[in-house]
Amino acid sequence: MRNCLNCNQPILQNHSLKDIIFCTQPPDDNLCGFCRQQLSQLKNFPHCRYCYKTSTSDICSDCENWREKYKIFNQHFAIFGYNQFIHDYFKKYKRYGDVLLARLFISDLKKWARCHEFDVVTYIPSSDSHYIERGFDPVYELYKDVFPLTKVFQKVDADKPQAQKNKMERMLTPQTFRIVNDFPKKSLNLKILIVDDIYTTGRTVLHARQLLTDIGFQNICTFSLTR
Ligand SMILES: [Zn+2]
Ligand SMILES: [Zn+2]
Repeated sequence: MRNCLNCNQPILQNHSLKDIIFCTQPPDDNLCGFCRQQLSQLKNFPHCRYCYKTSTSDICSDCENWREKYKIFNQHFAIFGYNQFIHDYFKKYKRYGDVLLARLFISDLKKWARCHEFDVVTYIPSSDSHYIERGFDPVYELYKDVFPLTKVFQKVDADKPQAQKNKMERMLTPQTFRIVNDFPKKSLNLKILIVDDIYTTGRTVLHARQLLTDIGFQNICTFSLTR
């Protein structure tokens, strides 16, 4: 019997008869029904079609801002809304460094990956200083068993972590990535996906995206577990 990676309760106990008969709970699920109930699936709510942010209009103010001010037209995908459960999850995973929690959402991520196809999937890496401090790269760990990941970006240490900035400061943050030397910059028609853990203003993934569009790549989407 599997136990929930989050609360350690046996997962099967929470199966309804319907789940067992119709196999609606995937076999590799690491979350029990009780924990799952606390998640908010963005696709179940009216959302911005360009970033999945909960929104009653077709395009949210963040996306409008990126389009009007910065001429950035991106398609972002996300699965869960940022709420208390997600906040607590990232606190345990990233701040306290519980690397086992990288697999908490594996079934949800794999399910999404099965329905979307890309030529290259890359990730937002942590800075060297964060990597040394934590001992692992949280975004890489989150996705390494979901997609074949290619390292495209390298993080240059920023002035202060994104989490300590207000919304305005985040949007104005200068470029903090560079492309690794051995990434082939020729096949410009490749369909690329950039994955991150959390999308707040979009500044982080859009910086990474910008580096690729500057070279001439055009077919780029971004993804985060939560928005
Ligand atoms: Zn649980
Ligand atoms: Zn949006």
